[in-house]
Amino acid sequence: MNNTCKEYEEILMDIYYGEAEMSIEVEEHLKNCEGCMQFCCELQEMGETLSQPQDIPIDYGIIRNVMETAEGVEAKKSNIRELALFILLACGLLGGIAGLVMLGYAKPILYLQGILHMGLPLTLPLILWRRKRKEGYNV
Ligand SMILES: [Zn+2]
Repeated sequence: MNNTCKEYEEILMDIYYGEAEMSIEVEEHLKNCEGCMQFCCELQEMGETLSQPQDIPIDYGIIRNVMETAEGVEAKKSNIRELALFILLACGLLGGIAGLVMLGYAKPILYLQGILHMGLPLTLPLILWRRKRKEGYNV
């Protein structure tokens, strides 16, 4: 059997990648054919070049940008969730109040609102005092 050089090159590649074993026929051809011997040398050189460890410079700027983008996306998602929750709560509260008004409880609701508006600011000193005690502010 006499293969062409092209076929020997394919066999040599298979041998190089461990998919075939060196046969006597191939060895004989290598001894007699300069082109295939050259191809074999080039394969080995290429393998040595590829197997050498290469220092790939790490661009920390790119990594930082990616991290910042990811954090920004996460923060945006969180903001959208909070906005949706706020809209849901506001609609529920307004709907509940509108429902009570429709049922004829408008007057007590207005009184309650007035009391809350007048009364809650009076508790502000109490809130500040409790906060100061809890967090140890020196106001
Ligand atoms: Zn050859």
